[in-house]
Amino acid sequence: MSDTSPSQGLFDDAISRLDLAFPYADIGEEALAKLKKPKEILEVAIPVRHDDGRLEVYTGYRVRHDDTRGPTKGGIRFHPSVCLDEVKALAFWMTCKCACVDLPFGGGKGGVVVDPTQLSLFEIERLSRGYIDAIADFIGPDRDIPAPDVYTNATIMGWMADQYAIIKRVKAPAVITGKPLALGGSLGREDATARGGVYILQEVAKDMVWDYGEVTVAVQGFGNVGSHAARLLAAEGFRVVAVSDVSGGCYNPQGVDVAAALEHVKASGSLRGLPNSEPISNADLLELPVTVLVPAALERVITHANVDRIRAKVVCELANGPISAHADEGLRQRGTMVIPDILANAGGVTVSYYEWVQNKAGLYWPLGEVHGRLRRTMTEEYRRIRQLSTDHRIGMRIAAYAHALRRMGRAVEAGGTRAMYTG
Ligand code: GLU
Repeated sequence: MSDTSPSQGLFDDAISRLDLAFPYADIGEEALAKLKKPKEILEVAIPVRHDDGRLEVYTGYRVRHDDTRGPTKGGIRFHPSVCLDEVKALAFWMTCKCACVDLPFGGGKGGVVVDPTQLSLFEIERLSRGYIDAIADFIGPDRDIPAPDVYTNATIMGWMADQYAIIKRVKAPAVITGKPLALGGSLGREDATARGGVYILQEVAKDMVWDYGEVTVAVQGFGNVGSHAARLLAAEGFRVVAVSDVSGGCYNPQGVDVAAALEHVKASGSLRGLPNSEPISNADLLELPVTVLVPAALERVITHANVDRIRAKVVCELANGPISAHADEGLRQRGTMVIPDILANAGGVTVSYYEWVQNKAGLYWPLGEVHGRLRRTMTEEYRRIRQLSTDHRIGMRIAAYAHALRRMGRAVEAGGTRAMYTG
C-alpha cells in the first residue's frame, strides 16, 4: 500500500498499529477485533444558503468509533480534503487517545467537506448550524460530544451548542466542548493541546538532560495548535528556529521571534514575509536538523517519500497522524524518538473533559486548577508509556498503543457494550 496519497488507506494504516501493540497489551483477541471497526457512521447533506442567494449542498460526516469506555468524544473538522476514510481514522485515534490518558470517553470525529476560507462568517455560521441540524440525534452529552478541530474554533462551537439547544429545547452545554467562556467553555481549553505537548517535552528534556537554550525546534503549522506551541515553547526558553503555515515557512537559526510572528499573522493573515527570517518551504522545514520537530497541521506529512531525510532527534506529533506506519518504522530504525499523537496532543481532549465535567457540575474551575490537573495527567501518562517502552524495548508509539489497548481491552472484557456476552 502506498502511503503518499494524503488520505487513501488512512484508516487501515491507523489500525495497523493495534496489531503491533497487541503482544504487549495483555488482552484478548476479541477486544482487538472490536476496535478494528467503527461502531456507527453517519453521512449527511447540509444545504447552505450563500450570501449571494445561491444554495450549496455540503457533505458532512460523524463517526462514533467505540464507546466501551464512555460517550464518544472528538472534534469537527472543516476542510476540503475531509473524506469518510479520514474521519474514521480520526475517530479511531480519539478512542485510543482517550484511553491513553484515561478519560472516561470513547472516540468519535466529524468533518465537513468545505474550504471555510472561501466562506463569509455568516455562511460559516449557517453551515455550522446546518451540520448540527443534520446530526442532532446522533450526538448528546452522554452519547457523542463534539469539539473543535482543524479550521473550527470556539465561536463555531458556540453556534453549534446554541443550535443544539434550539433543536432540543433544553440548555445542554455538555454536548459540545471548546465553547467560548461566555457559553460555558473552560479556562485553558484554547491552548490546551499545545500546552499538553509542552508539558511532555519538558519531561523528555529531563530524560535527555537537555539545556532548553540548546534545544532547537521547528513547528509545522501555525493554526490553533502550532501557534500556541511555538509561543509556549519560546516562553519556556526553547529556541524555535522555524515556523510555517499554508503560505510557507520562516527560518532563523538564531531563533524566530514568535511574538512578532503572531503579530505578523494577525496583521497580514499569514506568515509570508515575516521580517528577520528566511523563507523555507513546508517540505524543507520538516527536514531541518533540529532537536525537536513538531508537526502541528494535517496527517501524513512524513511518509516513505521523505522519512530518510528527517533529521530531528525527537518528533512530537501535535497533529493527528502526521507519520505513516511505513515512515514510523524508518524513524525507529534511525533512533528517532516519536512522541505519538495519542499522547502528545491529548491535552486538548483532556481539557475538553474538564469542560464537560464543569458543565455537568455547573461549577467552574480557576485556570490554575486546569493547568495543574493537565500537567499531572500528561506527565504521569508519559512516564507510564516511557516505562513500557523501556521494559519491552519498543518505540513510544507502540508503547502508547499497548498502554491504551490495555485500558480498552479491560473495558471490553469487563462486559462493556456486551462485547463478551456469551450467556
Ligand atoms: N480535535 C482535538 C483532537 O483531535 C480535540 C478533541 C476534543 O477536544 O474532543 O484531539
